[in-house]
Amino acid sequence: MSSNLQTSTEAKTYFTANMRPAPIVFERGQGCHLWDIEGHEYLDMCGGIAVLSVGHSHPTLVSAIQDQVASLMHVSNLFFNDKVIALAKAITSRTVFDRVYFVNSGAEANETLLKLARRYHYEQGDKERVQIIAMEGSFHGRTYGALSMTGQPKYKIGMAPMVGGIEHVPFMNIEAVKKIIGKQTAAVMVEPLQAEGGIHVGSKRYLQQLRELCDENGALLFYDEVQTGYGRTGEFLAMEHSGVEPDGCSLAKGIAGGFPLGAIAVKEKLTEGLPPGSHATTYGGNALGCAAGLAVLRVFDEENILDNVKKQSSYLLAGLNQLREKLGTDIAVDVRGQGLLLGLELADSIDPLALLGKLREQNLLLSLAGGKVLRFSPPLVIEQDLIEQGLSIVEQVLSDPPKKESK
Ligand SMILES: *Cc1c(COP(=O)(O)O)cnc(C)c1O
Repeated sequence: MSSNLQTSTEAKTYFTANMRPAPIVFERGQGCHLWDIEGHEYLDMCGGIAVLSVGHSHPTLVSAIQDQVASLMHVSNLFFNDKVIALAKAITSRTVFDRVYFVNSGAEANETLLKLARRYHYEQGDKERVQIIAMEGSFHGRTYGALSMTGQPKYKIGMAPMVGGIEHVPFMNIEAVKKIIGKQTAAVMVEPLQAEGGIHVGSKRYLQQLRELCDENGALLFYDEVQTGYGRTGEFLAMEHSGVEPDGCSLAKGIAGGFPLGAIAVKEKLTEGLPPGSHATTYGGNALGCAAGLAVLRVFDEENILDNVKKQSSYLLAGLNQLREKLGTDIAVDVRGQGLLLGLELADSIDPLALLGKLREQNLLLSLAGGKVLRFSPPLVIEQDLIEQGLSIVEQVLSDPPKKESK
């Protein structure tokens, strides 16, 4: 039998070094569980970084993909396919948006919003409107446009120059936006809940004020809902919590349950913002990805996923709050988030990466956000007994957490 350690050590010799996978090799998943090549079972509360909206190998998703792959995968965007039409119709009918465009990832969706922001105003005859306002601490992806909008310097080291015309202001600080927004502003880009940045929920008031400022200044308001969309926060889109309607948003991660797919969804007035020929993608909207996307929505309806997210979120949130009280601020500093995107902020003395390793040894998979926040983003089909199981492992490991080397 091959071992995790041996196989992953050998694997490292084949890959570029920019990603650092844990020394573990998975070969099977079902629901909220994963199995490695040694046959160990893990509880997956990382959920492929908030991607596994309907869990691993959901039968509805599996058979939709199997059926589709046998009938039609790809025809390019020179033609329609039946699945892309059905998915576009489904997304527009479930959201405040009228038009969609499909891509292959979150970064590509945000690239599209960036280009759309500028070209929309250009088409209106307003060629000076190129400024994009984005937030410090944000994450929008790794391609140049998306990276340029990302408000975290650590992702940009050695990669300058960035795309020009993008300015960052502190998240949740409306005065900072007021100072720089004007007739030169094409769009404001914001995550309603900063996920990668450390699980920071944007307040209703802040999001309302951003909408007002954009309206007063003729700027577009875009939300990055790549991580928060698709039920993750307990509503279909996180924007529903505040009632604020942006002019468009990006989607990806949970949209096709693990199959690579992304999209932008926009209001009617942006339909001609990118005129014919101004932007395109070869794979975006392929029949296979869209069949997966349709299957995810079918599961959402058949299994009342949004209700489950709300229910399980309250268990998980209550459990994490109890844990924080029990452990004290020497270990757990804060608990925050929405739906099944919750974070437990660790005290500075704890070594977060070593902690993830300890949790893995107890067969629990979690990820970090913002460096020191334990992120809980399990499959949206998770049930109470698994939440309790996960919490008890976290409690056990955090009762004697790995400390940072004292310098
Ligand atoms: C993950 C993420 C992205 C990037 O998506 P990719 O599919 O990795 O390109 C963009 N924005 C947010 C908010 C994300 O969480």
